[in-house]
Amino acid sequence: MGTVGQMLAGNLAVVALFVLVWSRTSYWLKLVPRPWRDMLFAATISLGTLATMSMGVEFQPGLYFDLRHALLAVAALFGGWPAAVMTTVIASIYRASMGGGGVAAGLVGIGLASSMGLLVHYFARRRSQSMGLVIATAVLASTAASLGQYLALPSQALSFVDAVVPNSIINALATAITGIFYLRAYRLSAERELMATALFHAPDYAFVKDADGRFVAANDAIARFAGLESARGLIGRTCMSVMSSEAAAKTQLEERAIMNSGQPVVDQEEQKVDASGQSHWYSTTKVPLRGPDGKIIGMAGVMRDVTADKILRQELLASRDTLSYALSEMNGGIAMIDADGHLIFCNDRYRNSFPYTGHLRIPGADMRDILAAVIETGEQLTAPKSAGAGWVQATLGNLLSEHEEEINLFDGTWLQVRSHTTSNGTSMVLVSDVTRFKQAQKELNSATDQLKQLARTDGLTDLLNRRAFDEALENEIRRGSRSGAPLSLLMIDVDLFKAFNDHYGHPAGDECLRQVSQLLRESLKRPADLAARYGGEEFAAILPDTDEDGAYLVADAFRRAVSQARIPHEASERGYVTASVGVATYMPDNVERSALELAQTADGALYSAKAAGRDRVFGTQVARKEARYAPY
Ligand code: GH3
Ligand code: MG
Ligand code: MG
Repeated sequence: MGTVGQMLAGNLAVVALFVLVWSRTSYWLKLVPRPWRDMLFAATISLGTLATMSMGVEFQPGLYFDLRHALLAVAALFGGWPAAVMTTVIASIYRASMGGGGVAAGLVGIGLASSMGLLVHYFARRRSQSMGLVIATAVLASTAASLGQYLALPSQALSFVDAVVPNSIINALATAITGIFYLRAYRLSAERELMATALFHAPDYAFVKDADGRFVAANDAIARFAGLESARGLIGRTCMSVMSSEAAAKTQLEERAIMNSGQPVVDQEEQKVDASGQSHWYSTTKVPLRGPDGKIIGMAGVMRDVTADKILRQELLASRDTLSYALSEMNGGIAMIDADGHLIFCNDRYRNSFPYTGHLRIPGADMRDILAAVIETGEQLTAPKSAGAGWVQATLGNLLSEHEEEINLFDGTWLQVRSHTTSNGTSMVLVSDVTRFKQAQKELNSATDQLKQLARTDGLTDLLNRRAFDEALENEIRRGSRSGAPLSLLMIDVDLFKAFNDHYGHPAGDECLRQVSQLLRESLKRPADLAARYGGEEFAAILPDTDEDGAYLVADAFRRAVSQARIPHEASERGYVTASVGVATYMPDNVERSALELAQTADGALYSAKAAGRDRVFGTQVARKEARYAPY
């Protein structure tokens, strides 16, 4: 049995050797076309089959025990029908040439082993080669071949168990081991192939150099860079032969430094001129390569064309610089706020516009915090300390929408704040100092007010003038028509004033009119009462909410005040200045009112007072149209 064991071990070694040879060489044969490669595979395995058969153990005359089934099954499983046919034919011829009583049985075994391998090969065609398939082939092919071989023997000298069981088990094991061996080698080479393909056809420029700076490997891209047809032409050469001498010297210096120091260079950007004379920007990474003993044996490098990137970055930088220059030179403040209320950007003018909170206005800051600080510091008169969270929320809402407002700062500055929203929810805020504009507006307003006041005032007496009187009377008529309140009008005329002028002269006449106007002012006690110079030496007084009796009391008090002032009037028989007053009243029931009607009624009453001897008050209700009241 010792001899059988040794023979078996030798057999296994032969099988392993052939599979190993194949798996080692198959990677280097990848450039050989597929059918040729398959034939080479079949030939190698056939040789292995012959080798194992030649080392077989003859159990009984004509019945050989070896590992041919394992190799036949593996050849069929991985090589398909070309390998199966080739190995089957070669093994069959060899077996036939060996002769003996078991030739037919041997051929049956050979045929079954190949068929089973082929069966699994076609069954698994569309699936990846896997461990499971190898095991299935091992069991199927070995069992079927051993069994078939035994049954085809002319005489069963050995017992079934002795002939079939060890043969099938050992062949199954050998099939499994060689199959798994092949599978591993196949996968490894597939991975290497995939990586090599990826590297060779990648757009990046990849290369490996030895310690002397000679190309050991290079891909298509680097070959094109060097102006060569294929990467093969580069192998063994240095960069001296693919670059200008100046650039090559620089590159060599750099690469020697990497290999001497062991320090890689990562993502170094530089401008290089390729073989066609075009200048591009490349990002280069170079790493030193170490042998198993840790010594540096070469260098691997990858270059990437980053010209488009570089141009884009430069353009971006240029436009950013232009923009920030424009923004910083802008006359007003500008800020951008995102939809969440965070400051994205602002220029110095914007910051400087806010003396207390400018330092907080930086990109990334939350506008809510800034607005809270505005309240806290009292920076804005328009945001008092009592404003609180509601004001912060409302103001932020304004900033994030189309809005315009003017805010007044603690130092009297006025800022105009305008916000515009963009399509992505960002808000652009423009701030301009409108203090001077505001002041000018204020001055203009007060000048206008003054002018308006002047236009309504009589220059001599400072009472309302005729125009203002007409307006005021119309207003009171309208108000009275709505409310139904009583309304009275006094018409006053200085007595014999022509004679006064003639006697004392015009300037003295003016002085007298001023005195009379002052007396009229003093006679009107209610704030709503209005006194006016109606024209010449005629005055008028509007008394809202005043009925006939009230109006008479006011009118007569004034008349007495004038006479009691004893302004000398020698041209009058009384010896002092007097005035006559006509009163007209709308009582509450008179709601249909007219300024003209009221004035005409008062004028009529005044005429009656004059006619009755002057220095007296005559008056009537408009509805009655008759002058009443007589002097004392
Ligand atoms: P009476 O009203 O009592 O009938 O006599 P009268 O002399 O006052 O008559 P009338 O009202 O017609 O005279 C108005 C005079 O008042 C004419 C003018 O000499 C004088 N007068 C009118 N306006 C002014 C004025 O602004 N200044 C001065 N000094 N005199 C004026
Ligand atoms: Mg008059
Ligand atoms: Mg008069």
